[in-house]
Amino acid sequence: MIYKITLIPGDGTGPEISEATRRVLDSTGVEIDWEIAEAGSDVMEKYGTPLPATVLDSIRKNKVAIKGPITTPIGSGFRSVNVALRKELDLYACLRPCKYYEGVKSKYTNIDLVVVRENTEDLYAGVEFQIGSRETAEIIKLSNNRIRNDSAISIKSISRTATEKIVKFAFEYAQKNNRKKVTAVTKANIMKFSDGLFYEVARSVAKDYPDIEYEERLIDNMCMQLVQKPELYDVLVLPNLYGDIISDLCAGLVGGLGVAPGANIGEDIALFEPVHGSAPKYKGMNKVNPVAMILSGALMLDYIGEKDAAKKLENAVAQVIFEKRVVTYDLGGTAKTSEMADEIIRKIREV
Ligand code: NAD
Repeated sequence: MIYKITLIPGDGTGPEISEATRRVLDSTGVEIDWEIAEAGSDVMEKYGTPLPATVLDSIRKNKVAIKGPITTPIGSGFRSVNVALRKELDLYACLRPCKYYEGVKSKYTNIDLVVVRENTEDLYAGVEFQIGSRETAEIIKLSNNRIRNDSAISIKSISRTATEKIVKFAFEYAQKNNRKKVTAVTKANIMKFSDGLFYEVARSVAKDYPDIEYEERLIDNMCMQLVQKPELYDVLVLPNLYGDIISDLCAGLVGGLGVAPGANIGEDIALFEPVHGSAPKYKGMNKVNPVAMILSGALMLDYIGEKDAAKKLENAVAQVIFEKRVVTYDLGGTAKTSEMADEIIRKIREV
Protein backbone atom coordinates (compact mmCIF):
# COMPACT_ATOMS: atom_id res chain seq x y z
CA MET A 1 0.00 0.00 0.00
CA ILE A 2 1.23 3.50 -0.84
CA TYR A 3 0.23 6.28 1.55
CA LYS A 4 -0.17 9.81 0.27
CA ILE A 5 0.97 12.15 3.04
CA THR A 6 1.38 15.93 3.20
CA LEU A 7 4.81 17.17 4.29
CA ILE A 8 5.11 20.78 5.44
CA PRO A 9 8.83 21.55 5.82
CA GLY A 10 8.17 24.75 7.82
CA ASP A 11 10.74 27.52 8.24
CA GLY A 12 13.85 28.26 10.33
CA THR A 13 15.44 24.86 11.02
CA GLY A 14 12.20 23.16 9.88
CA PRO A 15 13.36 22.24 6.35
CA GLU A 16 16.54 20.56 7.68
CA ILE A 17 14.77 18.34 10.20
CA SER A 18 11.93 17.67 7.75
CA GLU A 19 14.37 16.38 5.15
CA ALA A 20 16.04 14.19 7.80
CA THR A 21 12.63 12.89 8.89
CA ARG A 22 11.50 12.16 5.33
CA ARG A 23 14.65 10.12 4.64
CA VAL A 24 14.30 8.18 7.91
CA LEU A 25 10.60 7.44 7.31
CA ASP A 26 11.35 6.28 3.75
CA SER A 27 14.00 3.90 5.11
CA THR A 28 11.41 2.03 7.20
CA GLY A 29 10.04 0.43 4.04
CA VAL A 30 6.61 2.00 4.42
CA GLU A 31 5.80 3.42 1.00
CA ILE A 32 4.90 7.09 1.20
CA ASP A 33 4.08 9.37 -1.71
CA TRP A 34 4.99 12.76 -0.21
CA GLU A 35 3.02 15.85 -1.18
CA ILE A 36 5.14 18.86 -0.22
CA ALA A 37 3.15 21.88 0.96
CA GLU A 38 5.00 25.12 1.72
CA ALA A 39 3.93 27.31 4.65
CA GLY A 40 5.55 29.81 7.01
CA SER A 41 7.60 32.98 6.78
CA ASP A 42 9.63 31.78 3.79
CA VAL A 43 6.56 31.69 1.53
CA MET A 44 5.00 35.00 2.71
CA GLU A 45 6.44 36.94 -0.23
CA LYS A 46 5.49 34.39 -2.86
CA TYR A 47 1.88 33.79 -1.76
CA GLY A 48 1.08 36.88 0.35
CA THR A 49 0.13 34.60 3.26
CA PRO A 50 2.10 32.19 5.47
CA LEU A 51 -0.70 29.63 5.12
CA PRO A 52 -1.71 29.27 1.45
CA ALA A 53 -5.06 27.55 0.83
CA THR A 54 -3.23 24.80 -1.06
CA VAL A 55 -1.72 23.62 2.24
CA LEU A 56 -5.11 23.15 3.88
CA ASP A 57 -6.48 21.55 0.69
CA SER A 58 -3.61 19.06 0.65
CA ILE A 59 -4.12 18.05 4.31
CA ARG A 60 -7.91 17.79 3.90
CA LYS A 61 -7.38 15.54 0.89
CA ASN A 62 -4.63 13.31 2.31
CA LYS A 63 -5.98 13.29 5.91
CA VAL A 64 -2.47 12.77 7.31
CA ALA A 65 0.30 15.38 7.47
CA ILE A 66 3.63 15.94 9.17
CA LYS A 67 5.14 19.36 9.61
CA GLY A 68 8.33 21.08 10.66
CA PRO A 69 8.05 24.06 13.00
CA ILE A 70 6.86 27.45 11.77
CA THR A 71 7.95 30.81 13.21
CA THR A 72 5.33 33.10 14.75
CA PRO A 73 6.46 36.75 14.78
CA ILE A 74 5.92 38.35 18.21
CA GLY A 75 3.65 41.39 18.48
CA SER A 76 3.26 42.14 14.77
CA GLY A 77 3.09 40.21 11.49
CA PHE A 78 0.96 37.13 10.91
CA ARG A 79 -0.82 35.13 13.61
CA SER A 80 0.38 31.63 14.43
CA VAL A 81 0.16 29.26 11.44
CA ASN A 82 0.38 26.38 13.91
CA VAL A 83 -2.71 27.53 15.82
CA ALA A 84 -4.52 28.32 12.54
CA LEU A 85 -3.91 24.78 11.24
CA ARG A 86 -5.29 23.22 14.44
CA LYS A 87 -8.34 25.49 14.30
CA GLU A 88 -9.07 25.20 10.56
CA LEU A 89 -8.81 21.40 10.63
CA ASP A 90 -10.52 21.02 14.04
CA LEU A 91 -7.61 19.02 15.44
CA TYR A 92 -9.09 18.90 18.92
CA ALA A 93 -6.60 16.60 20.63
CA CYS A 94 -2.95 17.34 21.17
CA LEU A 95 -1.00 14.25 22.06
CA ARG A 96 2.46 14.53 23.58
CA PRO A 97 4.19 11.37 24.75
CA CYS A 98 7.07 12.07 27.16
CA LYS A 99 9.37 9.12 27.43
CA TYR A 100 12.87 8.85 28.79
CA TYR A 101 15.43 7.34 26.42
CA GLU A 102 18.59 6.04 28.03
CA GLY A 103 21.50 8.26 27.08
CA VAL A 104 19.60 11.55 27.23
CA LYS A 105 20.89 13.91 29.91
CA SER A 106 18.04 14.24 32.39
CA LYS A 107 17.44 14.34 36.14
CA TYR A 108 14.83 11.59 35.73
CA THR A 109 15.14 8.19 34.15
CA ASN A 110 11.89 6.39 34.82
CA ILE A 111 9.37 8.40 32.86
CA ASP A 112 6.86 7.25 30.30
CA LEU A 113 3.83 9.47 30.39
CA VAL A 114 1.48 10.95 27.84
CA VAL A 115 -0.04 14.41 27.92
CA VAL A 116 -3.43 14.77 26.20
CA ARG A 117 -4.25 18.45 25.78
CA GLU A 118 -7.55 19.90 24.60
CA ASN A 119 -6.69 22.00 21.56
CA THR A 120 -9.68 24.19 20.69
CA GLU A 121 -10.99 26.23 23.61
CA ASP A 122 -10.15 27.59 27.08
CA LEU A 123 -8.15 30.83 27.41
CA TYR A 124 -6.30 29.75 24.28
CA ALA A 125 -9.28 30.39 22.00
CA GLY A 126 -8.16 34.02 21.79
CA VAL A 127 -11.52 35.54 22.81
CA GLU A 128 -10.18 38.79 24.20
CA PHE A 129 -11.35 42.33 24.90
CA GLN A 130 -9.04 45.34 24.95
CA ILE A 131 -8.64 47.75 27.83
CA GLY A 132 -11.10 50.64 27.49
CA SER A 133 -13.35 49.03 24.83
CA ARG A 134 -17.16 49.10 24.93
CA GLU A 135 -17.30 45.30 25.21
CA THR A 136 -14.85 45.33 28.09
CA ALA A 137 -17.02 47.88 29.92
CA GLU A 138 -20.06 45.64 29.43
CA ILE A 139 -18.30 42.61 30.85
CA ILE A 140 -17.06 44.66 33.80
CA LYS A 141 -20.67 45.70 34.45
CA LEU A 142 -21.82 42.08 34.17
CA SER A 143 -19.22 41.09 36.76
CA ASN A 144 -20.81 43.49 39.26
CA ASN A 145 -17.59 45.47 39.13
CA ARG A 146 -15.54 42.60 40.50
CA ILE A 147 -13.23 43.33 37.56
CA ARG A 148 -11.20 46.55 37.73
CA ASN A 149 -12.14 49.31 35.25
CA ASP A 150 -8.67 49.46 33.73
CA SER A 151 -8.62 45.77 32.77
CA ALA A 152 -8.11 43.86 29.53
CA ILE A 153 -10.13 40.63 29.48
CA SER A 154 -9.52 37.14 28.09
CA ILE A 155 -12.36 34.66 28.27
CA LYS A 156 -11.89 31.13 29.57
CA SER A 157 -14.58 28.86 28.20
CA ILE A 158 -14.87 25.12 28.79
CA SER A 159 -17.66 23.29 26.97
CA ARG A 160 -19.31 19.96 27.67
CA THR A 161 -18.84 19.02 23.98
CA ALA A 162 -15.10 19.65 23.78
CA THR A 163 -14.42 18.15 27.22
CA GLU A 164 -16.34 14.98 26.38
CA LYS A 165 -14.34 14.61 23.16
CA ILE A 166 -10.94 15.11 24.76
CA VAL A 167 -11.57 12.90 27.79
CA LYS A 168 -12.93 10.12 25.56
CA PHE A 169 -9.84 10.51 23.39
CA ALA A 170 -7.61 10.11 26.48
CA PHE A 171 -9.40 6.96 27.65
CA GLU A 172 -9.46 5.46 24.14
CA TYR A 173 -5.75 6.18 23.82
CA ALA A 174 -5.12 4.58 27.24
CA GLN A 175 -7.10 1.51 26.26
CA LYS A 176 -5.42 1.04 22.87
CA ASN A 177 -1.94 1.57 24.28
CA ASN A 178 -2.19 -0.57 27.37
CA ARG A 179 -2.09 2.32 29.77
CA LYS A 180 -3.48 1.90 33.26
CA LYS A 181 -4.51 5.31 34.51
CA VAL A 182 -5.92 8.64 33.34
CA THR A 183 -5.44 11.73 35.53
CA ALA A 184 -7.61 14.79 34.85
CA VAL A 185 -5.91 18.04 35.82
CA THR A 186 -7.59 21.42 36.49
CA LYS A 187 -7.98 24.15 39.11
CA ALA A 188 -11.61 23.31 39.85
CA ASN A 189 -11.41 24.38 43.49
CA ILE A 190 -11.14 27.98 42.24
CA MET A 191 -12.76 27.90 38.77
CA LYS A 192 -15.75 25.95 39.97
CA PHE A 193 -17.88 26.47 36.87
CA SER A 194 -15.42 26.06 33.98
CA ASP A 195 -12.89 23.62 35.44
CA GLY A 196 -15.68 22.16 37.57
CA LEU A 197 -17.50 21.22 34.36
CA PHE A 198 -14.32 19.61 33.02
CA TYR A 199 -14.22 17.31 36.09
CA GLU A 200 -17.96 16.62 35.99
CA VAL A 201 -17.73 15.48 32.37
CA ALA A 202 -14.46 13.57 32.94
CA ARG A 203 -16.01 11.60 35.82
CA SER A 204 -18.96 10.66 33.70
CA VAL A 205 -16.80 9.54 30.74
CA ALA A 206 -14.52 7.57 33.11
CA LYS A 207 -17.47 5.36 34.09
CA ASP A 208 -17.44 3.89 30.55
CA TYR A 209 -13.87 2.65 31.08
CA PRO A 210 -13.97 0.62 34.31
CA ASP A 211 -10.64 -1.11 33.51
CA ILE A 212 -8.73 2.13 33.55
CA GLU A 213 -8.12 3.95 36.81
CA TYR A 214 -9.34 7.55 36.92
CA GLU A 215 -8.04 10.21 39.27
CA GLU A 216 -7.95 13.98 39.59
CA ARG A 217 -5.19 16.42 40.51
CA LEU A 218 -5.19 20.17 40.90
CA ILE A 219 -2.75 21.81 38.50
CA ASP A 220 -0.52 23.36 41.19
CA ASN A 221 -0.20 20.06 43.03
CA MET A 222 0.35 18.30 39.68
CA CYS A 223 3.37 20.50 38.95
CA MET A 224 4.94 19.57 42.26
CA GLN A 225 4.07 15.88 41.86
CA LEU A 226 5.58 15.80 38.37
CA VAL A 227 8.83 17.20 39.71
CA GLN A 228 8.90 14.92 42.76
CA LYS A 229 7.40 11.63 41.57
CA PRO A 230 6.66 11.68 37.85
CA GLU A 231 6.79 7.88 37.68
CA LEU A 232 3.35 7.76 39.38
CA TYR A 233 1.63 9.18 36.29
CA ASP A 234 0.52 7.59 33.06
CA VAL A 235 -1.94 9.54 30.87
CA LEU A 236 -2.77 13.14 31.81
CA VAL A 237 -5.78 14.92 30.31
CA LEU A 238 -6.00 18.69 30.56
CA PRO A 239 -7.77 21.78 29.24
CA ASN A 240 -5.79 23.77 26.67
CA LEU A 241 -3.70 26.22 28.72
CA TYR A 242 -2.70 23.83 31.53
CA GLY A 243 -1.94 21.26 28.83
CA ASP A 244 0.35 23.68 27.03
CA ILE A 245 2.37 24.39 30.15
CA ILE A 246 2.48 20.82 31.45
CA SER A 247 3.61 19.54 28.01
CA ASP A 248 6.74 21.66 28.17
CA LEU A 249 7.32 20.71 31.81
CA CYS A 250 7.12 17.02 30.84
CA ALA A 251 9.40 17.57 27.82
CA GLY A 252 11.88 19.05 30.29
CA LEU A 253 11.58 15.97 32.53
CA VAL A 254 12.71 13.67 29.72
CA GLY A 255 15.63 15.77 28.51
CA GLY A 256 14.24 18.68 26.57
CA LEU A 257 12.69 19.80 23.33
CA GLY A 258 15.09 17.94 21.04
CA VAL A 259 13.40 14.63 21.85
CA ALA A 260 9.73 15.61 22.37
CA PRO A 261 7.30 14.53 19.61
CA GLY A 262 3.68 15.60 19.18
CA ALA A 263 0.48 15.00 17.28
CA ASN A 264 -2.67 17.04 16.69
CA ILE A 265 -5.59 14.78 16.01
CA GLY A 266 -9.16 15.41 14.85
CA GLU A 267 -12.08 13.20 13.80
CA ASP A 268 -10.45 12.04 10.57
CA ILE A 269 -7.38 14.23 10.10
CA ALA A 270 -4.07 14.11 11.96
CA LEU A 271 -1.08 16.44 11.86
CA PHE A 272 2.20 15.36 13.42
CA GLU A 273 4.89 17.81 14.56
CA PRO A 274 7.69 18.19 17.08
CA VAL A 275 6.90 20.13 20.26
CA HIS A 276 9.81 22.52 19.67
CA GLY A 277 9.80 25.66 17.55
CA SER A 278 11.81 26.74 14.51
CA ALA A 279 15.02 27.53 16.49
CA PRO A 280 15.80 30.25 13.88
CA LYS A 281 19.27 31.02 15.24
CA TYR A 282 20.43 27.61 13.97
CA LYS A 283 18.79 27.92 10.55
CA GLY A 284 20.87 26.43 7.73
CA MET A 285 23.54 25.07 10.08
CA ASN A 286 22.53 21.39 9.88
CA LYS A 287 22.93 21.39 13.66
CA VAL A 288 19.67 20.80 15.55
CA ASN A 289 18.38 17.46 16.74
CA PRO A 290 15.98 15.83 14.24
CA VAL A 291 14.68 13.28 16.79
CA ALA A 292 11.58 15.18 17.97
CA MET A 293 10.28 15.30 14.40
CA ILE A 294 11.45 11.75 13.62
CA LEU A 295 9.58 10.45 16.69
CA SER A 296 6.56 12.47 15.53
CA GLY A 297 6.96 10.42 12.35
CA ALA A 298 6.86 7.24 14.45
CA LEU A 299 3.58 8.43 15.99
CA MET A 300 2.34 8.99 12.44
CA LEU A 301 3.30 5.46 11.33
CA ASP A 302 1.46 4.10 14.37
CA TYR A 303 -1.60 6.23 13.52
CA ILE A 304 -1.79 4.95 9.93
CA GLY A 305 -1.56 1.37 11.21
CA GLU A 306 2.12 0.68 10.41
CA LYS A 307 2.76 -0.41 13.98
CA ASP A 308 5.81 -2.62 13.32
CA ALA A 309 7.55 0.11 11.34
CA ALA A 310 6.73 2.61 14.10
CA LYS A 311 8.28 0.34 16.74
CA LYS A 312 11.33 -0.37 14.57
CA LEU A 313 11.85 3.36 14.08
CA GLU A 314 11.50 4.15 17.79
CA ASN A 315 13.94 1.36 18.69
CA ALA A 316 16.47 2.68 16.17
CA VAL A 317 16.22 6.19 17.66
CA ALA A 318 16.57 4.78 21.19
CA GLN A 319 19.65 2.81 20.15
CA VAL A 320 21.37 5.82 18.54
CA ILE A 321 20.68 7.95 21.62
CA PHE A 322 21.90 5.16 23.92
CA GLU A 323 25.18 4.69 21.99
CA LYS A 324 25.77 8.45 21.97
CA ARG A 325 28.28 8.13 19.13
CA VAL A 326 26.39 10.05 16.46
CA VAL A 327 24.19 12.53 18.27
CA THR A 328 23.66 16.29 17.99
CA TYR A 329 25.01 18.96 20.32
CA ASP A 330 22.03 18.99 22.69
CA LEU A 331 22.63 15.29 23.47
CA GLY A 332 26.32 15.93 24.11
CA GLY A 333 27.62 15.04 20.63
CA THR A 334 29.01 16.83 17.60
CA ALA A 335 26.99 15.16 14.83
CA LYS A 336 25.10 17.19 12.25
CA THR A 337 21.33 16.84 11.79
CA SER A 338 21.82 14.79 8.62
CA GLU A 339 24.50 12.56 10.19
CA MET A 340 22.24 11.64 13.09
CA ALA A 341 19.49 10.82 10.57
CA ASP A 342 21.96 8.63 8.60
CA GLU A 343 22.84 6.75 11.80
CA ILE A 344 19.16 6.14 12.60
CA ILE A 345 18.68 4.84 9.04
CA ARG A 346 21.67 2.48 9.52
CA LYS A 347 20.07 1.09 12.70
CA ILE A 348 16.71 0.61 10.98
CA ARG A 349 18.43 -1.36 8.19
CA GLU A 350 20.35 -3.51 10.71
CA VAL A 351 17.15 -4.89 12.28
P1 NAD B 1 12.36 26.88 19.94
O1 NAD B 1 11.77 25.59 20.37
O2 NAD B 1 12.41 27.16 18.50
O3 NAD B 1 13.85 27.00 20.46
C1 NAD B 1 14.23 27.25 21.80
C2 NAD B 1 15.62 26.67 22.00
O4 NAD B 1 15.49 25.26 22.20
C3 NAD B 1 16.54 26.80 20.79
O5 NAD B 1 17.24 28.00 20.78
C4 NAD B 1 17.45 25.62 20.97
O6 NAD B 1 18.45 25.96 21.90
C5 NAD B 1 16.54 24.58 21.57
N1 NAD B 1 15.98 23.68 20.54
C6 NAD B 1 14.75 23.73 19.97
N2 NAD B 1 14.60 22.74 19.09
C7 NAD B 1 15.75 22.04 19.12
C8 NAD B 1 16.22 20.88 18.43
N3 NAD B 1 15.47 20.24 17.53
N4 NAD B 1 17.47 20.45 18.67
C9 NAD B 1 18.24 21.06 19.56
N5 NAD B 1 17.88 22.16 20.26
C10 NAD B 1 16.64 22.64 20.03
O7 NAD B 1 11.55 28.03 20.73
P2 NAD B 1 11.49 29.58 20.50
O8 NAD B 1 12.86 30.12 20.25
O9 NAD B 1 10.68 30.10 21.63
O10 NAD B 1 10.63 29.72 19.18
C11 NAD B 1 11.15 30.00 17.89
C12 NAD B 1 9.98 30.16 16.94
O11 NAD B 1 9.27 28.94 16.79
C13 NAD B 1 8.95 31.19 17.43
O12 NAD B 1 8.56 31.98 16.35
C14 NAD B 1 7.80 30.33 17.94
O13 NAD B 1 6.58 31.00 17.83
C15 NAD B 1 7.88 29.16 16.98
N6 NAD B 1 7.27 27.93 17.51
C16 NAD B 1 6.67 27.12 16.59
C17 NAD B 1 6.12 25.92 17.02
C18 NAD B 1 5.46 25.05 15.99
O14 NAD B 1 5.75 25.17 14.82
N7 NAD B 1 4.57 24.14 16.39
C19 NAD B 1 6.19 25.52 18.36
C20 NAD B 1 6.85 26.36 19.26
C21 NAD B 1 7.39 27.56 18.82
